[in-house]
Formats: sequence, structure tokens, C-alpha cells
Amino acid sequence: MPSLRPAPAPLLRLLLLACPALLLVACANHASRAPAQPEQTLSSVAATTEPDYLLLVSIDGFRADYLDRGVTPRLATLAAGGVRAEALRPAFPSLTFPNHYTLVTGLYPDHHGIVHNRIEGDGEKSKFVYSDASTTADARWWGGEPIWVGAERHGLRSATMFWPGSDAAIGGVRPTYWKPFDREFSADARVDTVLGWLDLPDAQRPRFMTLYFEQVDRTGHDYGPGSPEVDAMLGQVDTALGRLVDGLDARGLRDKFNLVVVSDHGLTGSSVQRTIVADDIVDLQRVRAVTYGVVAGFVPAPGQQRYADATLLKPHDHMQCWRRTQIPARFHYGSNPRIPPIVCLAAPGWMITNATWLKEHADDFSRGEHGYDNAIPDMRALFVASGPAFRRGVRVPEFDNVDVYPLLAHLLRIKPAHNDGNAQTMHGMLRGAR
Ligand code: AMP
Ligand code: ZN
Ligand code: ZN
Repeated sequence: MPSLRPAPAPLLRLLLLACPALLLVACANHASRAPAQPEQTLSSVAATTEPDYLLLVSIDGFRADYLDRGVTPRLATLAAGGVRAEALRPAFPSLTFPNHYTLVTGLYPDHHGIVHNRIEGDGEKSKFVYSDASTTADARWWGGEPIWVGAERHGLRSATMFWPGSDAAIGGVRPTYWKPFDREFSADARVDTVLGWLDLPDAQRPRFMTLYFEQVDRTGHDYGPGSPEVDAMLGQVDTALGRLVDGLDARGLRDKFNLVVVSDHGLTGSSVQRTIVADDIVDLQRVRAVTYGVVAGFVPAPGQQRYADATLLKPHDHMQCWRRTQIPARFHYGSNPRIPPIVCLAAPGWMITNATWLKEHADDFSRGEHGYDNAIPDMRALFVASGPAFRRGVRVPEFDNVDVYPLLAHLLRIKPAHNDGNAQTMHGMLRGAR
């Protein structure tokens, strides 16, 4: 699917975020998840479900309430015939790479190590940049065990039609089938690739698959979450999802197929009028910026710790900074040494930048951003699930995205790796579990 605008904006956003020098419907049951019954065990749930295939779909940047705009009828039908969460709460920071990897490991970014889209490992010498395949393919960045590695270790073939981390041999294991990320690979081609895997002979056919769409996120950055362009792109991605469902139907696979459709975060309106200019606050020769954007990281130059504390840790308009070790506990963020010593978070709709960048790019500033406090409503993400394992027409309350991994492991009937998720969350969703 081509971008609506070949756009200078995505490139400029990339520079801003990646360059430190510049910086359903019909939900009959609103009663919500019932507390798990004490006598329920996951094995009792497993006994009642017979899934053969599991597909995890991500629509990057799909805010929870987009589902109620009436522009995604195929997704609405899936939700009506399955489970919809009020929302999926992203992990902090509500950025793409940290959250996609949380979804497949059940670990907070602090624990899996993808703490930002851009990371410095060992000072400036070792860098992870999400747009640089030579760094994303380096397995040393990726901690924990993603679900496809668990599947392969349990003898189940896996296949990734893009997913952050899928191009690295994590723990020495890659998905059986995977592709290097390519924005130009159309949405239909992605769907057809998944359907092609299902046409493989039984012995080669994957049991676990991912499918990833970035177009809604990109359009949201370029035009803003309330724009007609986002609605049009939602419609296009929904059509691709329909193509998938029709392909499953044509193959007679619907009753053997569990589909889990998620997003990594939502989006809130941003504007050049709402920028925090770092140079107005701190001497950038004495304190180095590792990242700008919604979540900025700073490293004091040698001997400048007191200066950095005095300038950054005091109250600021539209921004709050903490020492890494003093970030509020609800963010589950701060113990990983890859997190810079000082972390600053912009208020919703605001961005942290610097004077040079702002001067050069004031005309093409992004109109939508994420990365903010993961508790704010605009950061809420999507969760819809349907298939033989799931109840029908059920709406469950908002839950944390670390809880998705135990559900995936359960659906594949593999032993989950150590994770931060709550395995009870799935009880309200699964057939035979109540
Ligand atoms: P952001 O909105 O800045 O957090 O990043 C989202 C962007 O990440 C998307 O628009 C994609 O272009 C990019 N992206 C998503 N998955 C991958 C991947 N596996 N490898 C490289 N880039 C990716
Ligand atoms: Zn994203
Ligand atoms: Zn984005």
C-alpha cells in the first residue's frame, strides 16, 4: 500500500527521533472480565480449546477508539464474533519498538532491553537505531524470548510477515520464514505472503505467524489522529484484513485459526506550537542528548552531573525529568543501564527538540505523536481476538500489553518463558474458561 504522501514528513520525523545531533462493536457482554474462578486453571482452559494456527496482527498506531469510527467494518465483524478489549495499555515508553517487543515477550521494555527506538548500549560506541537494519539484526540488543523462538524450540514452525526483532537470531533462533522490513511491500502482498504460507504442505506450514502494517501510524504522524487521511488509511488496512479473512474462508481454515489483532500504542495531536526547546533549558555542550522527541534522554558530560541535575531535574513547563533511578514505579522503567541517566517526558501533545532542528523544520512538524505516559487515553491501543479458542461477542476491560504474551503461549500450548504478564487476564476471553 503506497503512502498517501511520499512526504518529507516521515523522513524529517525520523531525523528528529533518530538523530541526536539534531536533534465493536456489537459486544453483547459489557460485563467485563470476571475475576478468575479459583478452581480454574490454565490446563482446564487448554482442554477445551483445539487451535491449530495462531496469527498475531499488528496495526501500528491504531488507537483504541479508531474502532468506533465506522471505517473498519471487517475488524468490527471480527470483534463482534470474538473478543474486544476496551483498550490495550501500552508499556512505557509508548513507542513502536519497545511495545512490539513487549507484545511478543511479555516483558516490560526495562526487562527486554529495547528501551527506546534509539538506544546507546555502551556509551556512544554501540548504538541501536530502529531504522538501521544492521543494528536491529544484531541479536545482542534483544533480551528475553520472543514467542516465535519459544514456538521453534517447541518444534512449531513460525513465520513473521514483519515484526520488530524478527530479523535477529535471538538466542540463535530465527523464525522459519521471515523477511527484512520493507515499507514498499504492499499490504496486499503481506496478506498474500501469509496465505501462501498456509498453502505449504503440512510439514512446512507454520503454526504461528505475525503480520504487521505500519501505514496507519505513518499517516497519523503526517496528518494527525483526527484527519480524514487517517480514516482513509484505516479503511485500506481494513480491506487488507478482509482479504486475509476471505483467504482463510476460501481455504476452510476459519475454525482452525485464532486471530489476535493488536496495536502498539495510540496517537495524540502534536504541533510546532507545542515544543520544548532543550537549548533554552540546558547547555547541550555540558549535557549530551541521546534522544529527542516525546521521551528525551540526557547524559551529563564528565564532571557535569551537578549541573545536569540542577538544570534538568527542576520543574519545567510541559516536561518532567527524572534521574533514571527515580522514574515513577508505575512506568516499570529505569533499572536497565541502557536508559540514559536523565529521562525527560513531554506532556501530552508536546515534543522535546532543539533550536537548530526547530528552525529548519518548523514547517513540516508532525501532527501526531506517541511515546507519552502510557496511562493517558490517547495512548490506548487495540486488542481484538477471534477464533475457536475465543468467546464470541465479549468485551473485556482495558489490560496491560504484557498480558498478551501469556495468552499467545497458551494458544500455542507452549511453556511461557519468564515474563511480566498476568496469565489470569485471558480467562475472561477464552471459551470454557468461565
Ligand atoms: P515510530 O512511529 O517512530 O515509533 O516508528 C514506526 C515506524 O517504524 C514505522 O512507520 C515503520 O516504518 C518502522 N518499522 C516498523 N517495523 C520495523 C522493522 N521491523 N524494522 C525497521 N523499521 C520498522
Ligand atoms: Zn508504533
Ligand atoms: Zn509512530
